[in-house]
Amino acid sequence: MTDHIDVIGAGLAGCEAAQKIASFGIKTRLYDIKPSKMSDAHSSGGLAELVCSNSLKSVSLENASGILKEEMQLLDSIVIESAYRNRVPAGNALAVDRDAFSSYITDAMVKNENIEVICREVCSIDPGQITVIATGPLTTECFSAFIAELTGLGNMYFYDAASPIVMAESIDMETAFRASRYGKGGEDYINCPMDERRYGLFMEFLLSAERVNPRKFEKRDIFEGCMPVEIMASRGYDTLRFGPLKPIGLTDPRTGNKPFAVVQLRTENISNTMYNLVGFQTNLKFGEQKRMMTLIPGLENAKIARYGVMHRNTYINSPEIIDRTCAFKADPNIFFAGQITGVEGYLESAATGIAAGLNAAMRFLGKEPVLFANETLTGALLEYISGNRSHVFQPMNANFGILKPLEETLADKRKKTEMYAERALRAMAKTADGIRKVF
Ligand SMILES: Cc1cc2nc3c(=O)[nH]c(=O)nc-3n(C[C@H](O)[C@H](O)[C@H](O)COP(=O)(O)OP(=O)(O)OC[C@H]3O[C@@H](n4cnc5c(N)ncnc54)[C@H](O)[C@@H]3O)c2cc1C
Repeated sequence: MTDHIDVIGAGLAGCEAAQKIASFGIKTRLYDIKPSKMSDAHSSGGLAELVCSNSLKSVSLENASGILKEEMQLLDSIVIESAYRNRVPAGNALAVDRDAFSSYITDAMVKNENIEVICREVCSIDPGQITVIATGPLTTECFSAFIAELTGLGNMYFYDAASPIVMAESIDMETAFRASRYGKGGEDYINCPMDERRYGLFMEFLLSAERVNPRKFEKRDIFEGCMPVEIMASRGYDTLRFGPLKPIGLTDPRTGNKPFAVVQLRTENISNTMYNLVGFQTNLKFGEQKRMMTLIPGLENAKIARYGVMHRNTYINSPEIIDRTCAFKADPNIFFAGQITGVEGYLESAATGIAAGLNAAMRFLGKEPVLFANETLTGALLEYISGNRSHVFQPMNANFGILKPLEETLADKRKKTEMYAERALRAMAKTADGIRKVF
């Protein structure tokens, strides 16, 4: 062990991690390849660059990302501090002047006496050195190769091809029915049955719906093995009906009818609060995905927990690789943070940066790790990425579906979100107090 901690990548997660580590008086080396070289999405020389939208989503506590912001504020997040200082008018959303936002964080890093910012590409890490890896969704080639070797065969993904995920409580179970094909597997799947007319309308929609334009570095041929539904639809009227929407082995138990096509949903988490649309990778714009749901019987009013996406995204198979403290299971001196852990979004990346930074510091100081309660969104995200056992690991953003369900059943949606928020902030305040006592 040495006299400092290395943080690789000075994006949202890396800056949060460095800030946390330095706050314990620990010398921190923060490495970033910028500005000497940049990915196709990064364009400014500053640290913590927002690569696309300038919004950090809603501040409302009726919203999961609003609660996450409050949690991060309790943990003295530099990202949230900068966002509020550099806020631009955008209603309920926390939108920022992106250059001022990045400058504020860059200054905080450069002026911190415990942080040394080093501009260089990192292609490997020093064995035995406590290190936080936070090189993001566009980690450079040499370092991606290093991480792939470090984490083992098949534990690294380079593209994200995800289906939409809906909240279980918003599925209309009067229309959908539970069954597995040919009765094998009990009632594991929720099936949304389509008759021929509905299937026709659905095809018409998919063929005309607006798609996201891929960026120049997101080559199309990568998705051949994982084709979006809208592309499948364009290959022939029956392609989907013989593919992911095949109705074989399924009979609606209430009518005895065999559907013309079926959209199947599979649970996303152990508490069954979220379901993903099986084989439904899509690159439709988010507004179009909402419209798409209204055409699927049983999902007309479905609340989308996470939209389908198809984009370049470097991330590790976290459930196999890291624990709830963001530490690498095979070498607890190494921590992962940010989008590379399989969280999705600016705030989510920053939140895991705080968690990894705190735990790297605790390891350095020989203290117990900081564990975030499942009632908090931070804890729920960490639980999702480290403990997800349901099926192929897909990135996740902050939403109510990942939180530990409330003990009581409440019909009033507003009351329910209020209770989620109250519970999360109470638990996080307790954790924040515990962290202060380490000083
Ligand atoms: C094109 C694109 C658009 C996105 N748009 C949004 C959006 O609008 N809203 C949203 O919430 N999320 C968005 N995301 C997802 C995600 O929230 C952001 O990518 C976020 O910046 C991730 O934070 P991070 O700290 O993990 O990575 P980054 O912010 O990307 O930081 C990683 C840093 O590591 C550096 N780095 C990489 N490799 C090396 C190396 N080998 N050596 C040294 N330094 C290295 C990079 O230069 C970078 O500064 C987008 C992602 C992408 C790829």
